[in-house]
Amino acid sequence: MTSPDNSDKRRGADGGSAMSEEWLIAGASVVGGAPRDLLLKDGVIAEIGENLAAPGATVLDARGLIALPGLVDLHTHLREPGREDAETVETGTRAAALGGYTAVHAMANTEPVADTAGVVEQVWRLGEQAGYVDVRPVGAVTVNLGGKQLAELGAMADSAARVRVFSDDGFCVADPLLMRRALEYVKAFDGVIAQHAQEPRLTEGAQLNEGEVASRLGLAGWPAAAEEAIIARDCLLAAHVDAALHVCHVSTAGSVEIIRWAKAKGVQVTAEVTPHHLLLTDDLAEHYDPVFKVNPPLRTKADVDALRLALADGTIDCVATDHAPHPVEAKEAEWAAAANGMTGLETALRVVHKAMVETGLLDWAGVADRMSARPAAIGRLPGHGQPLTEGAPANVTLYDPAAATPVDPATHASKSRNSPFAGMALPGQVRATFLRGTATVLDGKVTR
Ligand SMILES: [Zn+2]
Repeated sequence: MTSPDNSDKRRGADGGSAMSEEWLIAGASVVGGAPRDLLLKDGVIAEIGENLAAPGATVLDARGLIALPGLVDLHTHLREPGREDAETVETGTRAAALGGYTAVHAMANTEPVADTAGVVEQVWRLGEQAGYVDVRPVGAVTVNLGGKQLAELGAMADSAARVRVFSDDGFCVADPLLMRRALEYVKAFDGVIAQHAQEPRLTEGAQLNEGEVASRLGLAGWPAAAEEAIIARDCLLAAHVDAALHVCHVSTAGSVEIIRWAKAKGVQVTAEVTPHHLLLTDDLAEHYDPVFKVNPPLRTKADVDALRLALADGTIDCVATDHAPHPVEAKEAEWAAAANGMTGLETALRVVHKAMVETGLLDWAGVADRMSARPAAIGRLPGHGQPLTEGAPANVTLYDPAAATPVDPATHASKSRNSPFAGMALPGQVRATFLRGTATVLDGKVTR
């Protein structure tokens, strides 16, 4: 029912350049509200109303579908340059579009590391060439993620990639003086430091959440305090220098309490939670299947409950995937030797549907806020995250909440298959995605 009706209303005779597509999305529930028609023309939402007529437009029957603003991911590992065996900008952005995204922030832990204007511009250009979503590179905070010397933050900010988010993700900026300097430095261009909060000494050799499950399995523990100590320290530093801190992949109930306290004090702190930390718990490691190995680790049911409530009340600002593709050989090893990380772009919205919407914690307007508006604002990303209103850029996702199919990583566009949701019956499916009015996904498939 969502097939575009091309029978009598074809695309422009020029074959469909970026600005020539014209779509009439008919009868979509706009962020969960009443059905409306949306006319996408010249890259913007030209009109919203009922029974719209647009003779030149391709009609897409969207009855039963929810229209959301294009999703924005603050935390994606695209792996290129250097680890094209795991993912490329092309495959990763196809996966993003299939997940309903129109923009992603590409993490800096590539080979070479994205710590110079040259590398971030390379990643940005690869994103432009692929054309599925806007790719905004994240710049490294320190040279080669080494934690010793600040990278060329200003040069990356001034580059064509216009970097605004800086992170050593994968590693913590553990040196407090370096962290303070980074926070101070990026104020000049309204940047933000996104911290992977992991006290390194407390987590040497850590394999799984420190607690009952790790003890039983004989795996070295990753204590909640190692995350919470860094978040507390960084909130104090951000307050001291009045700069913007973003906390990556918050995973514990204690971290939520610290962030809530800091926000109440007026600290410029924002935070993200991953889909997997909203749904999965550490007891899944019971059979030592490394698909469940991730950093920070899966935590307890009490942590999951606290993270959901924090996302609902806004203490945690947004959902970020931490999409971390790995080739089979890196994940199908014994637990201790396996790589950390999970894919997530193609399942994020479905997981949020299950964890937050089906539980009544968020409505679709809330989902739009946590998965589009807020991450775009935190990333200082113009042209994304805007409400679906006339004149806004036509970045639109159409989601079918009634669909329900088991997750099958073999069908994913990502080059990697390490989804922890494999075989799980998640609700919903992304039917279509539009980037500035151009369809990148139709009928649940990429358009090219
Ligand atoms: Zn991380």
